[in-house]
Amino acid sequence: MNKPHLKLSAVHRHYGEGERLVRVLDAADLTVESGELVALVAPSGAGKSTLLHLCGLLESPQEGEVEIIGEKTSQMGDRARTQLRRTTVGYVYQFHHLLPEFTALENVTLPQLIAGVDQKAAATRAMELLSLLNVGHRASHRPAELSGGEQQRVAIARAAANRPRVILADEPTGNLDPETSDLVFEALKSLIRNEGAAALIATHNYDLARRADRIVTIRNGLVVPHTV
Ligand code: ADP
Repeated sequence: MNKPHLKLSAVHRHYGEGERLVRVLDAADLTVESGELVALVAPSGAGKSTLLHLCGLLESPQEGEVEIIGEKTSQMGDRARTQLRRTTVGYVYQFHHLLPEFTALENVTLPQLIAGVDQKAAATRAMELLSLLNVGHRASHRPAELSGGEQQRVAIARAAANRPRVILADEPTGNLDPETSDLVFEALKSLIRNEGAAALIATHNYDLARRADRIVTIRNGLVVPHTV
């Protein structure tokens, strides 16, 4: 059987000490398979960012294991972790952070050039992704000439550019109106299916979360199923 794209086993993440100790994750487990989209819904301060950062190898747990496509990361040095993160993880933020001087196409091409893909292949891939996300017709536009929903779909295309196996998103539709949120979420979902990536999406939006494959929350330091 294929290894899960993302697997957290008995992960501990605490902050502070003594009276100020905060046990955000306490032996938490989470598995996300290829092509699966998992929504993470939890109140502010529950540990959503912490969990996303651990999954994205931006933070390390004090105990436990984070595996990406079967690669254990707990014993890895900084350099190996950074390399694994660069090649396997794509991140989508609430605000798109697109480069304003570059077109949509260039924004999606650039990360590939940095990863060593040649110009032509990178541009072809960028166009494919923009089309898949229904913003192909805006490829030559700069971010300022795009609507919020279009900008966010370009940001998703950029996050997916280097074929990450794991896509993490922190409130990707947080600053969009409901209709546009729907559009962006559906685009993200079809991308995940198409690319066979594993996705963990933090959102406050229950209407969207319901359309994920499953919903999890953080309770008592564990990642548990969430029913709405
Ligand atoms: P969320 O994203 O769900 O709002 P966070 O993951 O940001 O939650 O934070 C979870 C808890 O951990 C909060 O109580 C927060 O105050 C605490 N926390 C997060 N980062 C740090 C840190 N660097 N130092 C101390 N406490 C932290």
